[in-house]
Amino acid sequence: MKYYDKLIFELSRPGRKGYELPANAFGTDGAAEIPADLKRTEPLDLPEVSELDVVRHYTNLSNKNFGVDTGFYPLGSCTMKYNPKINEELSAMPEFAGVHPLQPAETAQGALELYYNLQHALSSLAGLEEFTLNPFAGAHGELTGLMVMRSYHESRGDHKRTKVIVPDSAHGTNPASAMVAGLEVVTVKSRPNGSVDVEDLKPLLDDTVAGIMMTNPNTLGMFETEIMEIAKLVHEAGGLLYYDGANFNPLLGKVRPGDMGFDIMHINLHKTFSTPHGGGGPGSGPVGVGKHLVQFLPNPRVRKGEDGKFFVDTDDRALGTISTFFGNFGVMMRAYAYILTLGKEGIRQVGPLATLNANYIKESLKDDYLLPIDGVCKHEFVFDGLKDKSTGVTTLNVAKRLLDYGFHAPTIYFPLLFHESMMIEPTETESKETLDEFIDVMHTVAREARETPDEVKNAPLTTLVRKLDETGAAKNPVLTYKALKKNAQ
Ligand SMILES: *Cc1c(COP(=O)(O)O)cnc(C)c1O
Repeated sequence: MKYYDKLIFELSRPGRKGYELPANAFGTDGAAEIPADLKRTEPLDLPEVSELDVVRHYTNLSNKNFGVDTGFYPLGSCTMKYNPKINEELSAMPEFAGVHPLQPAETAQGALELYYNLQHALSSLAGLEEFTLNPFAGAHGELTGLMVMRSYHESRGDHKRTKVIVPDSAHGTNPASAMVAGLEVVTVKSRPNGSVDVEDLKPLLDDTVAGIMMTNPNTLGMFETEIMEIAKLVHEAGGLLYYDGANFNPLLGKVRPGDMGFDIMHINLHKTFSTPHGGGGPGSGPVGVGKHLVQFLPNPRVRKGEDGKFFVDTDDRALGTISTFFGNFGVMMRAYAYILTLGKEGIRQVGPLATLNANYIKESLKDDYLLPIDGVCKHEFVFDGLKDKSTGVTTLNVAKRLLDYGFHAPTIYFPLLFHESMMIEPTETESKETLDEFIDVMHTVAREARETPDEVKNAPLTTLVRKLDETGAAKNPVLTYKALKKNAQ
């Protein structure tokens, strides 16, 4: 073990410092202006470390981390693509990053213009009338969209519509958001090929249905070819169609959810539109709606006056407010820069390239891995573990073994339709050489599973920490210095 791995967590020594503050410019009198009840009486409980300790601590931690900037990340349903660095630079520009949400609109015209233009760019990509950029994440967008759905039915005095139909292959956030929005979830089955079973859907459609939540291509990466029929049936029954567009990658510039009959959708800017994500943030889940639903979008809104000036508007018919101010502005800046740099033609290449890469991996590996749904996939696909399961090597073992070879694991045990799900999404930004390396390693692991299964079952063998207590980490997270100290006691 390297010496700094031993030092890495408790570096604090009483009295050690990495800073020097200037003399208090306000003098002791200035300090006296702070009301007594707000004044700190005890010093802040922070680690006492030198600057060099801090630099090494974070640099060494970052070297142990896996990210899209260090290696291939085939994490299905997450769209872990390369995030162009120019977008990072732009989003940090002090002219934008320093804008205060409460400053008068006349002094923030540039920021409002960006918000307005991005709204419109998303509307044209989605084929919907208007977007709000206020929600902070995909799940937050789902909640907002479902609140729009409820507001629509309630505004028509149609109070019976309390059910939302969700396919059994849906992302877990879909039923969760429906519950939070106060709607009841009804599950519709998938056919063996992963598409919504229209015959199973028909009897569910009555006057208590508020709408259906779908994603197309679905969670198995397959395009729902009967979407127009589904849209017709749901609309005839008085319901609305919600599109989970968290992974907008496969459709970008090619197919518009509005044209497929969807009334409401959300997009994850932090997946499709180039914001680095993971570890919980930052996110942005804009929600777009058709003309008949615009009035229900949350406040505040950004509008353009006849004089060409941008202003902040509110609408009494809105469902209310769902976030502080306008949402995550830095993420919007990255998305806007991404759309402008790719341009109309560039954006049209994203989906086809992501689709090509996914199909290339799928076809190259289906001799060793079980492909439950054959056929052309879109941006991602699902294997049901190894084809040869006789040595007892599981999807978890394969995922851990990939770490030894320097690849991030795919999404595993999701979707729940199969016992050994392994969901792979390469995205459009990987080179053929990287894909070939990945394919090669996946074949190697399959061979090891046959010949030296214990090696795979004990993986990872070369990482700094071996098998982790993932349940413990999720249930008892140690995310702050204070929590670490408390845990050590
Ligand atoms: C990621 C994802 C979500 C949730 O997005 P968050 O920003 O993590 O809340 C919803 N649906 C699908 C299909 C997703 O892939």
